[in-house]
Amino acid sequence: MKRFLTVSVSIGFMGIFILICMALAGGRTEQLSGADIAMGTVITQRIYVDRPFFHLQSDDTETETQHILSQIEALERELLSRRISQSETAQINAAGRGQVSPEMGALVEKCLEISQASDGAFDITLGNLVMLWDIDRLAAEPETLQGAESGEFPPKKEDIEAARAASGYDKLLVSDCEIILSDGIALDLGAVGKGVAMNRVREYLEGEKEITGAVISLGGSILTYGSKPDKTPWRISIADPFDTGQSIGTLSLEGQWCVSTSGDYERYVYSDGVRYHHILDPGTGYPAVSGVHSVTILTKDGFLSDALSTACFILGEEKGMALAEEYGAEALFVDEEGNLSMTEGMRQYFNESDR
Ligand code: AMP
Ligand code: MG
Repeated sequence: MKRFLTVSVSIGFMGIFILICMALAGGRTEQLSGADIAMGTVITQRIYVDRPFFHLQSDDTETETQHILSQIEALERELLSRRISQSETAQINAAGRGQVSPEMGALVEKCLEISQASDGAFDITLGNLVMLWDIDRLAAEPETLQGAESGEFPPKKEDIEAARAASGYDKLLVSDCEIILSDGIALDLGAVGKGVAMNRVREYLEGEKEITGAVISLGGSILTYGSKPDKTPWRISIADPFDTGQSIGTLSLEGQWCVSTSGDYERYVYSDGVRYHHILDPGTGYPAVSGVHSVTILTKDGFLSDALSTACFILGEEKGMALAEEYGAEALFVDEEGNLSMTEGMRQYFNESDR
């Protein structure tokens, strides 16, 4: 009897010892996914989370992806949206001037720098012109396009010219977090919103040590972070602008990168057989015609990838390539004939598909 008890106790201790060893040896990696709408686009997430061995599966499963989504929604609501009245952008547009947060002040300053570097092709003061065309909304709600037949779309030439002439980044002043808009100009941060969101999400991920890898797509912008459990590179597919269901190739990336694509196929409206897209040329007031169908920028910084992709689309291949190189970014252009051209650096990451 005594011997039986001793054996049982030993087995019990051994079992506990094995469990402690398993717990100390670490856990397992869990993959979480999410698909939501925010910033007027689809946000998809795939993240890898290290779980301790004894982590109980609970209602928590959504938590990490929900937290990431909340970061993006907060940014839109508090800083970037032109339509949400309490955002800093909407407040400044309504008042024409005011004190902003350090984050907003720094963002506007960085936008002004890109305006200068791109000779005004990139310009966040085009708010009134963007609102006049309203292509983002019309593209999202094609049923509202009845206006197109009744002559409201495209907008009248003189209205376009008036909105264009009244805008200009030289009418925007920012100093010590005070912003002043002259001549009734309005801000539109649509060209950099997803890039700013990539940076915000990356900062969040860096503080969450259990998240070991993530790939997060916000419309035309994609953030990669950390690594996959099998350590193979992230593979980011670049859409074919002639057939967005197809890919022109993939980027193989290790670690943290930001990839932004601007293209005339992303948001557009057809009226009388003419396609009007959402990237406007500050020089003409009309959708930019630069011979480019799409441009993809690859950088470590989200703001830069998003700002440069818009600027390079308007500038066209030659000037756009020079601008990307000035900022140490990699660029890939698809022209209207479907020809590809890219920076030397981009070649290291890009594998072209058979088309
Ligand atoms: P993206 O898709 O990142 O190239 O950004 C396009 C969005 O930027 C548009 O939907 C407008 O909100 C805004 N936008 C259009 N034209 C310009 C421009 N020339 N400079 C800066 N922002 C622009
Ligand atoms: Mg952009």
